[in-house]
Amino acid sequence: MAEVSARPAPRRRRRRALVSVVVAAVLGACALGGCDRGARDDPGAGAARPAAPAPAPAARPNVLLVVVDTLSARHLDAYGYDRPTAPFLSSEAKQGVLFEDVTASAPFTASSVASLFTGLDGMHHGVGGHVDSLRFSRAHRTLTEAFRDAGYATVGVVTNPWLTAQRGYDQGFGVYHHRGSGHAPDRAKLLLDELAKVPAAQPWFAWLHVIDVHMPYSPSAANLNRFDAQASASLALEHFVKRPISIDTMFFEYRYSAEDIARTRALYDAAILSVDEVLRDTVGALRARPGGEGMIVVYTSDHGESLCEHGLCWSHEFALYQDLVAVPWIVRAPGRLPEGKRVATPVRAIDLAPTVAELSGVTLGGPGATTDGSSALPLVRGQPEPLPRVAFAESGPWRDRYKKNPRLFVHGDEGRWKMVRDGRWKLIAIPHQPNDPPSDELELYDLAADPGETRNVASENPEVVARLHGAMAEWVRTRRAPPPDDAPPLAVSPEEREALQSLGYAAQ
Ligand SMILES: [Zn+2]
Repeated sequence: MAEVSARPAPRRRRRRALVSVVVAAVLGACALGGCDRGARDDPGAGAARPAAPAPAPAARPNVLLVVVDTLSARHLDAYGYDRPTAPFLSSEAKQGVLFEDVTASAPFTASSVASLFTGLDGMHHGVGGHVDSLRFSRAHRTLTEAFRDAGYATVGVVTNPWLTAQRGYDQGFGVYHHRGSGHAPDRAKLLLDELAKVPAAQPWFAWLHVIDVHMPYSPSAANLNRFDAQASASLALEHFVKRPISIDTMFFEYRYSAEDIARTRALYDAAILSVDEVLRDTVGALRARPGGEGMIVVYTSDHGESLCEHGLCWSHEFALYQDLVAVPWIVRAPGRLPEGKRVATPVRAIDLAPTVAELSGVTLGGPGATTDGSSALPLVRGQPEPLPRVAFAESGPWRDRYKKNPRLFVHGDEGRWKMVRDGRWKLIAIPHQPNDPPSDELELYDLAADPGETRNVASENPEVVARLHGAMAEWVRTRRAPPPDDAPPLAVSPEEREALQSLGYAAQ
């Protein structure tokens, strides 16, 4: 089931070039006091604390990107959650930078990961579609290719049935280990083994993608009952594993008791804790290697999870509420970034690739070109930005099998939800018939007053709705990717279909 590729750099039909700034600019800003320690970017919050002596940064640092699939920021104690689900990530945040308000570009893996690696939002890179046609185009310039072109060894150890080399997710990686399923400890060990093979004189860029936090939520045996002694008796888990009801029913229709929702939430939280322990051990092992202390580590997720909020249970991809699009983003970069900095200004997941490129001193693209995202380092340095970073997102396309979704009204691509977020305001548009063409059912939320998105205030704020709906229309008009090439259907193996189905995806 594993795929390993070791191949020369492919020729690209076109390059999407991005602005990059050399790392010296960052170092210079820190040296000038731009990277203050222990402070938030909102005035008056946070207090400075003494700086630990930082190691001199290497010219070409090793860089580890950790993507914890399906990890909602709201379930991390570093983001204010009331359970200690991730003490290691909290510790990393205290020694690095935490972005408090990050919007993913899509609530499903295939699109969101493509955005993480390109800085393009989903409508722009165009990843979506049926299981037999979904591809990440090799025409797009990726963060991995930027590192590879800078002389880095590039290693991917990836777990998720969508992220195959065949679909294009290996681009830029000299070594790419993909599996559709598997647990974090084994995958982390493989990563450590692969990175040990990299010559000492060569820097590396590595991507570790783990899926233990995705349903069926796979905590270690030791953590299984840590937050709730009855977690292993979760009815949702029972439904998922034994399939007494259809996935469709489980996601949209079945009415779980409050007790079972709490129990399953504990299971999800325990899975986060188990991954946190693996990350602690893995990152600790890498830091203990010669030269490892200056390593840059970036932690994020592709999307969150709905635990029966807004009528969707144990899933994602079908809606755009904050439990699905608010993702974590923590960066630790000794000597390059301050410690204990929390950036409250809203940013987007599409800002991650430009940020990591700038921080690492690699060039994401050529001169004169741009991307949808932009480096967030100015916010870390406390520089004011004239315009807010407006976030857009679009829900998933795999809908035909999910006939019981009560909030999908229009068949096909035209039925996908869209959202635009501009500071405190968030507009969700749900295409709805019987109008032809379909009109949008609109929901407006004031996230400052109502972070749980419980009250649609669209009718009370028509001017805000008009402004955001206009921005959304412009986004669709300017960003919609051209139809994909006439590529032949993928040869999806029976094993791949089985892996997709085992995670609840329509794979027919
Ligand atoms: Zn995912």
